[in-house]
Formats: sequence, C-alpha cells, structure tokens
Amino acid sequence: MFKSGCVCCGTESDFQEYIRYQNETVFSHYEGTIIGKCVTCGTLKTFPKINAAFDPQENHTRVYEKDIRKFEKLFQPIVDKIKRHKPTGRILDVGCATGILLSLLKKERYDITGIEPNRKEYLKARKRLGSRVVNTTINIYIRKHRKKFEGIIYNHVLEHIEDITNELKSAKKILKPGGIIVIGLPNTDNIIFSLRKKYWEFLMPTQHIWHFGKKQIRELMQKNGFKIIDASYSDDDRFDYPLAKRIYFKCLSFINRLLNTGEAQLLVVLKTP
Ligand SMILES: [Zn+2]
Repeated sequence: MFKSGCVCCGTESDFQEYIRYQNETVFSHYEGTIIGKCVTCGTLKTFPKINAAFDPQENHTRVYEKDIRKFEKLFQPIVDKIKRHKPTGRILDVGCATGILLSLLKKERYDITGIEPNRKEYLKARKRLGSRVVNTTINIYIRKHRKKFEGIIYNHVLEHIEDITNELKSAKKILKPGGIIVIGLPNTDNIIFSLRKKYWEFLMPTQHIWHFGKKQIRELMQKNGFKIIDASYSDDDRFDYPLAKRIYFKCLSFINRLLNTGEAQLLVVLKTP
C-alpha cells in the first residue's frame, strides 16, 4: 500500500499495487512501472519508474499525418455527438494535436478554436488552421482570452493530466450555460482489459497517468459538477493484427457489445447548475 494524490479526494489516498511491470521482454520499455488502485474510488493510477516522467513534448505528428483518413474516421463519432447536442456554435478542442478533428468541425461550419501544448503538433495544426490554434494549456488560455464555448472536446487527453479537478474547473469557466464537454478516453471496464491486464494495448503507462472504468469516470464527473448525458463504447479494430488474432478480438468485442461496454468510452457531459 502506498499514498498518492487521487481524483476522488484531492488529497492523498491509499493505493494498492494492481499491476507491476517486472522482468518484461515485449513490454521492456514499461519495466519498473507500477499501476496502483485507489482503495477509496477504484481508479487506477500509473507510478512510473524513477527518471521516466511523462513528457508532454513527446511528438506524435508523424502518427497523425501518416494516415489522416484513418484519424478522420476515428474522429467522426465525436463530430456526430457534437452535431447531435450542439448543432451550431463555438467549439474548443483541448489537446487538438495536428488539428485533424478541428478540420472536420470547420467543414461542419463550427466556430473552432484549438489548444495544443506540444510545440511540434501545434505548428502542424497552425499550418492547417491558422491563428485559431494556440500553443498553450487551458489554465493559461483562460487568463488571456474571454471567449466562451458551446462545446469543449477532451479527446484522449484527460488521462494524461495529473490534476484533472483543476483542469475541469478551468473548462467550466469558459463553458456557456448549457454547454457540453465531449470526452473520449480508454475504459478499463471491458472484457479485453480483464483478460489482458498489463498487456492491454491501451494502458500505455508511459503516457496515461489515470485509467478509468465506467463507475470511476461517472463519479469524477459528478464530483466536478457535470452529468453524463450520452455514453457510447467502441473497440479497436486491430486491423494490422494477424487474422487468427483478429477473430479472437472480434469475439471479445462481441461480448463487450453485449455488456454495453468497450475499450474506449465517448461521453457527453453537461455542466450541472
Ligand atoms: Zn481515489
């Protein structure tokens, strides 16, 4: 048992060791990393090995730009959620990376803004979308800008942020009344994680600090003044895996669908009065 800050209490909570990467061969880059489980709320938290802190400047530009169509397809459900809940208005994408999702929203005639702290990804987004993208974090952005938004997107971003409570507080300040936040993040509440545990591809413990299941994310949102009004789940298609493995994962995906869950969760949350 060890103590660390948790999203449930804002102070120190007790964590029990849940996963340990030790004597790894395939996942040798995670060697020494521990994932602990908060005994109060059940949220999983990564404790990286010494000298292996999370690097926000780790650049993924090439990954996004190599296959833009693949990411457009991945981002389309987010666009659909926004169109359903906010047919027009100002949308902010926090951690917009190279701006592929914002481009889709621009085509749908939304008034778009992007925030990206990673310098290289920001430069690519700026090339794509011009001055609508800012190289900063939300906490700095709200001190300099007075714009308010109908919708804010956190697509696979929250799990990278240590102080989520503070992040959501900032987001709340620039959300118009009745505004929504669209949140995409991995979901530990699924059969593939239950079976694969530390070998689940989406744990990514050199990048993800937090790992939430359905219950933990619901409680986190409630605690921070948001209500989940829409939730959907999906699994990765693992299109580059060998056929036999793909069939195996398809069977697991079938079970996930039966249980109304999946490896990724896409949530729409509403600011509660
Ligand atoms: Zn906790």
